Amino acid sequence: MTTHTRFANARLADGSLVDLTVTDGRFSAITPAGKTAEDTAAIVDLVGQLVVPAFVEGHIHLDTSFYGDAWRPHIPCTNGFDVRERVAFQARNLAAAAPMAERARNQLELCVGNGSLAMRSHVMVDASVGLKHVETILAVREKYRDLIDIQLVAFPQGGILSSPGTAELLDEALKLGCELIGGLDPASFDRDVNGHLDVVFGLAQKRGAGVDIHLHDGGTLGLFQVEEIAARTKALGMQGNVAVSHAYGLGDIQADALEKAGDMLAAAGVAIMTNAPGNHAFPPVAALRRAGVTVFSGSDNIRDSWWPYGDGDMLNRANMIGYRSGFYEDHELEAAFDVVTHAGAKALRLDGYGIAAGARADFVVMPAEHVPEAVVAVPKGRTVYRAGGAVAKDGKMLR
Ligand SMILES: [Zn+2]
Repeated sequence: MTTHTRFANARLADGSLVDLTVTDGRFSAITPAGKTAEDTAAIVDLVGQLVVPAFVEGHIHLDTSFYGDAWRPHIPCTNGFDVRERVAFQARNLAAAAPMAERARNQLELCVGNGSLAMRSHVMVDASVGLKHVETILAVREKYRDLIDIQLVAFPQGGILSSPGTAELLDEALKLGCELIGGLDPASFDRDVNGHLDVVFGLAQKRGAGVDIHLHDGGTLGLFQVEEIAARTKALGMQGNVAVSHAYGLGDIQADALEKAGDMLAAAGVAIMTNAPGNHAFPPVAALRRAGVTVFSGSDNIRDSWWPYGDGDMLNRANMIGYRSGFYEDHELEAAFDVVTHAGAKALRLDGYGIAAGARADFVVMPAEHVPEAVVAVPKGRTVYRAGGAVAKDGKMLR
C-alpha cells in the first residue's frame, strides 16, 4: 500500500519554507509551504524548523567502544605514543568488556539518536581475533538494517606483513560481506609501503572492494604514502572508491607541497577523512576542499582504549571541525556542515542522498534558523526520520 506523509512548513538550508511530501520512503514532491494541493497525505507540521539530510558517520569503530559499558580509565603509553602498545591495552580491556554485540548496539543507537543514518565502520581483523569481530558486527548490521546503512571496512589493526595470516583473513572478511579493505600506516607499522599497499589494492581489485586506509604518519613520510595511494588509485581506475583516514601528514607540510598534494588527490578521486582531533595537526579542510578533494568526517574512537572522547554526534563534529579550522563566516560554517552531510555521502558513495525529489527521506529536524546557526549551537531537540518515519527524538530511540 502506498503511504503519503506531508511534512509541512519545513525550513530548508537555503532558508525557503516548503512542504515535503514523502511517498513510500522517498521525497516525492517539494513545494512552497501552504501551496500544496490537498490529498490524502498525513500531515506533520514542522512549524518552520530546519530540515537537513541525515548525517554521515564516515569513520567509527563499532567493535572496540565501551560506550554504555563500564568506564575504562585511559592508560597512557609508557614511552611515547606506540600503536602496538595501545593494541595490547585494547586486548586487555576487551577481554573484560561487555559482549561486543551489546556495545556495538549502544554505539549505533547513540549515533542514530543524534541523526546519523549512514555509517562506515572499521572492524578489526588480525591473527589474534581472526574474523570474530567481523562476524559479530555483520550480525548487528543485519539487525539494524531498517534503521541505518552500515558499510564495513576489514581493518588490519595488527598490520598486514607484520602479522602473518592477516592477508588471508582480510580476503575472507571481504567475502563475508565487508565492502572495503583497510590498511594501517604502511611505512611506520609494517615498514614496507609497497608490500602493504600491494596486499590492500590487490585484494580490493580481486573482490571489487573500496579502500579506506588509516594513515597517522606525519610530515613527508605521511605525504609520501598519500602520493603512493593516489598514484595506485589512478592507475587502477579506482577514483571515488578510495579514502585515506586521518592523513595527519597533510596537516604539517608547507603550503606549496599541500597544494600539489591537493591537486593529486582531487585528480585521483581519493577522499580524506578527518575527525579534527584535539592536540594534533590535521588536514586543512578549506584548502583541500578548494582543490576539489572530498573531505568527510567521523567520530572515530568513542570511549575506547585509544581515548575517552566521542559522542556519536556528527553535528557536534561539524562544530569541532569549524572550531579547529578557524571557520567564522557563514560559508565556512556551511562547509563544515557539508563535510558531515553531502561530502560524506559522496565519500561513502550513497545513492539518493539529500533533500530532493526522488531522494530517500532520511532527515533530521531541529530547532535552528539555518545551517550556520545549527553548526555553532548544536541543538539537542532533534527528531530523526528514516524513510519518512520518526526513529529517534531528543537523542532517544523511538523503535
Ligand atoms: Zn579509526
